[in-house]
Amino acid sequence: MKYPQERDASAEIARIALQKLAPHSASLNPMSFAVWYEHVSGINPVLSGAMENLLRAHPKLNDEQIEQLYTEHVSECGSKVQMSLREDLKQLLGKLNQLTSNADRQTTEYGNTLHDFGERLKDDVSASELDMLVKDISKDTDKMHVSMQEMHDELEASQQEVGRLNKEMEILKGAAMTDPLTGVLNRRGFESNAEDLFSNTELSNGKGHCLLMLDVDHFKHINDTYGHLLGDKVLAAIANTLKIKVQGQDIVGRLGGEEFAILLPNTNLDGAFAVAEHIRQAIERGKIRRLDSNADIEGITISIGIASRKKNEKLESLIERADKALYTSKKEGRNRITIHD
Ligand code: GH3
Ligand code: MG
Ligand code: MG
Repeated sequence: MKYPQERDASAEIARIALQKLAPHSASLNPMSFAVWYEHVSGINPVLSGAMENLLRAHPKLNDEQIEQLYTEHVSECGSKVQMSLREDLKQLLGKLNQLTSNADRQTTEYGNTLHDFGERLKDDVSASELDMLVKDISKDTDKMHVSMQEMHDELEASQQEVGRLNKEMEILKGAAMTDPLTGVLNRRGFESNAEDLFSNTELSNGKGHCLLMLDVDHFKHINDTYGHLLGDKVLAAIANTLKIKVQGQDIVGRLGGEEFAILLPNTNLDGAFAVAEHIRQAIERGKIRRLDSNADIEGITISIGIASRKKNEKLESLIERADKALYTSKKEGRNRITIHD
């Protein structure tokens, strides 16, 4: 399906899309909505690239620009991007196939020629025959050398093409693994990164990995009091704090609603607790500017649960244990950290 998001996720994207399209001068029609929906959800990186370029020059998009984006990148676009990738890949495979069968034919022919030369050498050959033979070998070897060189050039071109396709696939994959509201990994992206870490022993130094599960306290109350849009702003601000407080190799994801997870590779429980405490304090101290006035909202807090990965433990079980610790933090009054033992 072109739009893979489930109802809750799609509702969230729709809300952000409406919020983003409102300040522009284009009409609020389904075409405009489709463009913004696909941009916000991250499912159409080619459209997003075109939009970002356009927005740099024109902060307010009009009907004409929206229509152009729609016709060029949205209408049937999901399948168009994938179809064009598939078509490119098919062509590349055909080319490589042709190259290898040519190479196969040429090396067989060259092998046969060398064999014939060998046969001719078995008989007594005169000096002039030997001279001819050497000239023939040299001619055929030159021919082989030229075609090998051509093949080498074609292979190099194909390699570049493979690199380009790989990059496009990476962009598509990246968009499918990012949470549009906060820019951190979505659940799928988080799980995929965590599985990579667990399966690649070279990424582990033996210290073990720790998982933090984080949940915003009384978030329903924040939504009910200040509205959903501000709730979204709070989530984006929290995600930003998480990104700032962790290091490059750490894996940050939004697993759903107001729940985040951070996987800290090669970190023991003491280290994980220190990171969690930094985050907890930064959020407790943080302020969020209200949308409807200049006042700030203070007192937003989060609860955290930590678990250290046991040998060969599956991600699911690690999440479950960190979740239990998180539940204890909630039960014991929130705005605190619990370590699962
Ligand atoms: P607790 O301290 O026990 O975690 O209480 P809570 O209110 O945070 O927890 P609860 O699970 O009762 O409510 C979570 C709320 O988060 C309910 C839901 O409307 C809101 N929520 C989930 N996803 C989003 C979102 O993307 N944006 C906004 N604004 N709110 C969301
Ligand atoms: Mg929750
Ligand atoms: Mg909560």
